[in-house]
Amino acid sequence: MATVTLQGVRKSFGRTEVIPPLDLEIRSGEFVALVGPSGSGKSTLLRIIAGLEEIDAGRVLVDGDDVTGVAPGERDMAMVFQSYALYPHMNVAENMTFALRMRGADPAEIDRRLQGALKMLGLQDYAQRRPGQLSGGQRQRVAMGRAIVRQPRVFLFDEPLSNLDAKLRAATRLELRALHDQLGATSVFVTHDQIEAMTMADRVVLLDRGRIQQIGTPREIYRAPRNRFVAGFIGSPE
Ligand code: ADP
Ligand code: MG
Repeated sequence: MATVTLQGVRKSFGRTEVIPPLDLEIRSGEFVALVGPSGSGKSTLLRIIAGLEEIDAGRVLVDGDDVTGVAPGERDMAMVFQSYALYPHMNVAENMTFALRMRGADPAEIDRRLQGALKMLGLQDYAQRRPGQLSGGQRQRVAMGRAIVRQPRVFLFDEPLSNLDAKLRAATRLELRALHDQLGATSVFVTHDQIEAMTMADRVVLLDRGRIQQIGTPREIYRAPRNRFVAGFIGSPE
């Protein structure tokens, strides 16, 4: 696990400033939810942390080390997307170990991590199946497994539950949070769903048009929303 610090991070697309200068510190071991309406800059911010998006100004630090110019593959982070992006022609085991194999990791070590992740995710019986033979929930687990086997310092989630139906989604929230605790990871979880954010996170960061409206524990935010936007978005009494 690691601390992630954003200092004066700024990003425009063309003439549109999507992220005005922004500071944020995510503490080691924390599960932080970035929540806000569609278009508020959540994915952009996550991609900036991952190194998938260049910034116009500012710095990104991991455990105090400046990683601003560091390539995504070298940042020791793993991202899980809404679309899962599994390889359809590879089975579950191959999908989960692809990055490690590309890196030339020791086969015994790869297998040890694979078995651990399969067990953690309850996928032991599905290792040889292809994504097309799995349910949506199982595919989501494989995407999680692919991140877990890499043992990154930081997990980045971009609406990973959005493709699941409501019931499965609620159950998966708890599981994902339990996984975070079990892994002792630092997690940044993007969602437009305030209930998801409030039920899963240690701290919630509310974004509106690229600006942080409030940061706090779910309880703090619910009890004392700082402005109308926060109160309205969370649905707490003003
Ligand atoms: P969110 O994830 O909160 O829905 P995004 O970070 O995806 O928001 O987008 C924030 C804003 O930046 C939106 O207005 C979006 O249209 C714009 N945007 C995101 N990526 C690009 C891009 N590659 N080129 C131009 N505009 C973009
Ligand atoms: Mg998004």
